Amino acid sequence: MMKKRKKKFIIAAILSIFLMLLVGSYMLNPQPVHAMMVDFSSMEERVEHVYVEPDIPENMEDMILNDLTQSKERISEVFDGLQANPTILFVQSSKALEKYAQNNRTAQTYYTYWGHYIVVGPDGFNEDVIAHELLHSELRTRLMNKDKVPVWFDEGLATLVDHRYIRDESLNLDHINDLSSRDAFYEPSQVKGNYEIAHSEVVRWFGIVGKSGLMELIEGLNQGGTFNELYKAIESR
Ligand SMILES: [Zn+2]
Repeated sequence: MMKKRKKKFIIAAILSIFLMLLVGSYMLNPQPVHAMMVDFSSMEERVEHVYVEPDIPENMEDMILNDLTQSKERISEVFDGLQANPTILFVQSSKALEKYAQNNRTAQTYYTYWGHYIVVGPDGFNEDVIAHELLHSELRTRLMNKDKVPVWFDEGLATLVDHRYIRDESLNLDHINDLSSRDAFYEPSQVKGNYEIAHSEVVRWFGIVGKSGLMELIEGLNQGGTFNELYKAIESR
């Protein structure tokens, strides 16, 4: 049997490593932690899980909340109903953007163990951006919060409810699998075109398989299937 002192030492060592990791990740990436602690900030909860920076004028706030309602309806273009329940933060000032949004003025979503946090900045106060982020959260929820799809599919599916994108049938979609990793997809000089390619491919596929095909893909992935095999099999039926 292990000596008591040795046992205590091991527990203390594990605890301090855990604490160091926690502090380290906060220092590298404080914004998701701030988003998680939103209840202890000056942000005001307007609707359940929806927080608005108090400096935002009331008429703008009404517009934002209306956009959010409309955005939720757009999700039904792709899924039957909403299962995700993300916390959403609307921020406008540069101080709040720095605190919550890693200086991204449009939107970003943090997937944490405790839930999804969508931070929307002033360039994202519209239905397209909000619906886009909600769709990411919905897909992730249905995939049991695991990375199971290539980046091009995740982004392409989100653009189905983001009406800034229009299908371009002249695009060559043969090399879509080169855009599976984050590094390849978000490569700054290519990212704009990559969204267009992803959009056109997913519009094409979804046009054939529809909502039921998407549900089949998700079920297959949750049962341990491979994305590429399921994706092709579902559309060739
Ligand atoms: Zn996206």
